[in-house]
Amino acid sequence: MAENRTSGCRSALLDSLGWVDHAFQAAGDPPPSDAAYGQQRHSPTVVLDEENMPPKRCESDGVIGVTTRPVAVYTADCLPVLIADTRRRHVAAVHAGLKGALAGVLFSAVERLKALGADSETLFVAIGPAIAPCCYELGENMINEIGQNPRLRQPATWSAVQPRNALAVRPQAQAQQQGVWFDLPQLGRQMLLQTGIPAAQIELLNLCTYCMAETGASYRRNTHFNSGYRSRYSWIRRVA
Ligand SMILES: [Zn+2]
Repeated sequence: MAENRTSGCRSALLDSLGWVDHAFQAAGDPPPSDAAYGQQRHSPTVVLDEENMPPKRCESDGVIGVTTRPVAVYTADCLPVLIADTRRRHVAAVHAGLKGALAGVLFSAVERLKALGADSETLFVAIGPAIAPCCYELGENMINEIGQNPRLRQPATWSAVQPRNALAVRPQAQAQQQGVWFDLPQLGRQMLLQTGIPAAQIELLNLCTYCMAETGASYRRNTHFNSGYRSRYSWIRRVA
């Protein structure tokens, strides 16, 4: 098993910027002691770091860092999204599960960063470990609901046939219903592209929490096997 699956993993794109530090930590590891993060509710609410110090002071699913304090989110199968604005050197951590993404949390994070001075061209994004289409089955009714989401300019990506993941380190999820296999990381990328962020400035880490990540990383795997799960903290901060 690769080292990054036990000690967390990093984005080469964010590392290339030179002025941020960040991590998609392993499930169960504690966040930095000075990190700001919200009481997450799958909402579109994004706040500034000071509003969530101490952590969970208010409900939010995205936190923007305007100082050198780290901002964080905790996830299991949802998307942990870390954003850096090279113009103002602001950063953001966003929790985007399917529900929060459809509620618009990625759009509100980008809009808030732009209100603080960012442009689409100055934003760099990494989407960390999350449940992938190899293991994320949704019922047809949910697919219909996604199709009616007014924020999506193009259809979301899903497959009627379960994609095989050649990099899986444990068995993929087994079908539980006559469903489809939904690509949540791709939905996040699609929404970010819609805001005008260039494709080359969005990195997907492509690490499925169900079949590839460290043990205990997947909420859905826990619902199938009662195997337990622990939150993954992902954080980002300005260092220069
Ligand atoms: Zn998988």
